[in-house]
Amino acid sequence: MKFDAELRERAKTLFREYNGWFPVAAIALVVAVAILDAASPGLLGQFLSNLNYNAVSLSLAGVILIATIVSYPRVYKLKVLLSGFMAVSIFLMVFLARTSFPFHSLSSGAVWDFYASAQKLPSFTARFLSLLFALNLLAIMIVPSRVNYTAGRVRSVLPLIVNLLVWVLVIFSMAAFVETQAVRGIQVFFILYAKWIVLAIFIATAVLSWFRIEEDHNFGAVLVSIALVMLVAAFNPKMDARFLAFLLLMGALLLAGIVYHVLESLKYGARIDPLLKIWNRQYMGAIVSGVAEIHLGSKFSVLISDIDHFKHVNDTYGHQAGDAVLYEVAQCIRKSAEPEGIACRYGGEEIIIFLKNLTGKEAKEKAEAIRKAIEKMKIKYQRRRIPVTTSIGVASKEGGAKTVEQLIQEADKGLYEAKRTGRNKVVAS
Ligand code: GH3
Ligand code: MG
Ligand code: MG
Repeated sequence: MKFDAELRERAKTLFREYNGWFPVAAIALVVAVAILDAASPGLLGQFLSNLNYNAVSLSLAGVILIATIVSYPRVYKLKVLLSGFMAVSIFLMVFLARTSFPFHSLSSGAVWDFYASAQKLPSFTARFLSLLFALNLLAIMIVPSRVNYTAGRVRSVLPLIVNLLVWVLVIFSMAAFVETQAVRGIQVFFILYAKWIVLAIFIATAVLSWFRIEEDHNFGAVLVSIALVMLVAAFNPKMDARFLAFLLLMGALLLAGIVYHVLESLKYGARIDPLLKIWNRQYMGAIVSGVAEIHLGSKFSVLISDIDHFKHVNDTYGHQAGDAVLYEVAQCIRKSAEPEGIACRYGGEEIIIFLKNLTGKEAKEKAEAIRKAIEKMKIKYQRRRIPVTTSIGVASKEGGAKTVEQLIQEADKGLYEAKRTGRNKVVAS
């Protein structure tokens, strides 16, 4: 029973962290468009032509581009920047494929006119676009998240150029040789298999996003949602109204995702300690005063850990080594304290851990496990092994009227006692 509840709690957290509602929103939008289309065929086409699709998609592309460029210096996430540029390239490709250009009349044949070329291969054009886009999404998922500013800008413009070049070259050459056996073969191949390849890429994107969840604060969920829309679009045979409606949805999702991601990153950045990568003092204050999303409830414990003789580590191995040790210790504490523990940097090398729903005895056992885990760690800095130990003070509340502040004071007393009586130990007050 307890295990069930725990599992459900974990699943809920994971879903929240993963922004599971992004893919859900994408599915809801796709279903809404499909229902609308089925209920009254032609309405979508009429709506899109009244809407002036080209104008809408180009302005959406512009807004996305501005949003990504403005947000990049705030989050330094290459994925955000790339996604914006990629959306722009997709919208430009659709624009090219749907717009007849005046040079048509200047040239003798239709070969000069991209629109005419694309019209010769309606199913191929749509399928090729889906495939190109799916590959883009996968590439974004694979690239590292952070690069420096200049490299980021260069790397984002490059896919835009490559996408457009590939698009124009492939459509032109396919159209020029449309009567040949080889091109017919490629067309048939695409019509038969492109959607399955897109499906495979979608699955790869979804799986990868799961593994890179922590690194990117779940921008992966946004990319997966868009990939999902694109996947559905890939199963549409032509660049018809539904396909175009899906492309607009994708743009809207991407824009929402970028804005959401930037806000989340800022919120996250304000709560996380930049060196230790655990919650910071500010977020600890929010937990203590009960305004954080995390609520301690009526039964919880407070652990305060402090590294033993840390000044000695700094003095012997240097401050940078000290920083590395501090990071390793913090991560070890965070991992050992999970799932019920919430680790925050209290100050200097002191870390506070709130443990929910454990008895005082269980909390002490947990503290002991943390202490042992740290003692066992093999921290290396520039090939030198640095031994570390910690002392931990514990205070618990199982009902009663004590406040969090009182518990912190008690845990602090326990810590003081642990230091006074020899260090590398746990003292419960
Ligand atoms: P004790 O066993 O009594 O805890 O001895 P200690 O040397 O660890 O004493 P104390 O806890 O008072 O020392 C805190 C030291 O931690 C002082 C400071 O130089 C170091 N410190 C605090 N924050 C950082 C940090 O972010 N990086 C590094 N490298 N050192 C830090
Ligand atoms: Mg210390
Ligand atoms: Mg200290």
